[in-house]
Amino acid sequence: MSEKSFTFGLIGYPVTHSLSPCIHTSALNALGLDGQYSIYEVPALPEGGERLEALLAKVQSGEIDGLNVTIPHKQSVLPYMDFLTDTARDSGAVNTIMRREGAMVGDNTDADAFLSDLMRNLPQSLDTYWAIVLGAGGAARAVVYALLRQDWRIKVVARSLDQAVQLAEHFQDARLSDVRVVETLRLSDLRSGNVKRWMALHENDFILVVNTTPVGMVPLVESSPWPDGAPWPEHGLAYDLVYNPLETVFMRQARVAGLKAVGGLGMLVEQAALAFERWTGFHAPRKVMLQAAVREGIHHDSQIGTG
Ligand code: NAP
Repeated sequence: MSEKSFTFGLIGYPVTHSLSPCIHTSALNALGLDGQYSIYEVPALPEGGERLEALLAKVQSGEIDGLNVTIPHKQSVLPYMDFLTDTARDSGAVNTIMRREGAMVGDNTDADAFLSDLMRNLPQSLDTYWAIVLGAGGAARAVVYALLRQDWRIKVVARSLDQAVQLAEHFQDARLSDVRVVETLRLSDLRSGNVKRWMALHENDFILVVNTTPVGMVPLVESSPWPDGAPWPEHGLAYDLVYNPLETVFMRQARVAGLKAVGGLGMLVEQAALAFERWTGFHAPRKVMLQAAVREGIHHDSQIGTG
């Protein structure tokens, strides 16, 4: 065992059944490192403000080595950071907090984790890159950021058009896109004639459909974010960020429509691995972490939360 004992944790609400403690603990154990990963329930601001500030002060003082951030704090922690990495700044969301030379740094490992898991699941060569991103919250920002950097063209589809437009404008302001690249649509309009015509026009193109909403996650396992009657692309991949259950209704619908479908467990493990590497400086044992997540996921069956 090394002399250093690491202290990590997750802030969010609700987070009681998160897989993160077991994923990080498995990595610490596999490398013979001492440490612990705790869950810190912090309600949304303003209610959770004092608790959030107290935890961040512990990062500042070195009492906590690293924090993961999940719903509802990925955007609310931004103003507390001394520095943001390029990914956190440009995506406008933080999922990993660390200390560097006494300063508190906000990073986002979701974007790289999504991209690396996506790459594992894409066909070898692609001519046209269209992505339909469902949802416009913190995870959507990381996904859109990752895709824009790879020159994908994107439609952001949210139940509130305002939220989708706000996300698109964020990327325009960050000079990562222009109006033509990030289009916006109301979720209910996925059933519209315009979308049917668009799908017909792109029937030979590869289209990625990403669910970044929590719809389909426990306890709402019978629901799908894809509106009834909305046309699926002819060719493509459905990627669900939800990882509990391992197979969602959204994934099943996509498979029935002839698409390949992937769940969010690979991304979850990769974002944890990248955070672990930032905090410890050690290469993360990804296989061990994935096995631990699968074991814990099956163990908890129907009661795992976010993060
Ligand atoms: P968030 O910031 O709260 O955003 C959620 C988005 O989903 C919002 O746009 C929200 O719209 C929308 N939404 C919520 N309920 C909806 C519904 N019933 N119908 C349509 N849209 C709905 O949350 P987040 O941090 O982005 O996380 C979203 C999901 O991604 C969670 O399930 C989380 O576990 C998962 N995630 C997975 C990974 C991974 O590694 N696999 C990483 C990050 C996140 P409103 O604002 O209108 O409610």
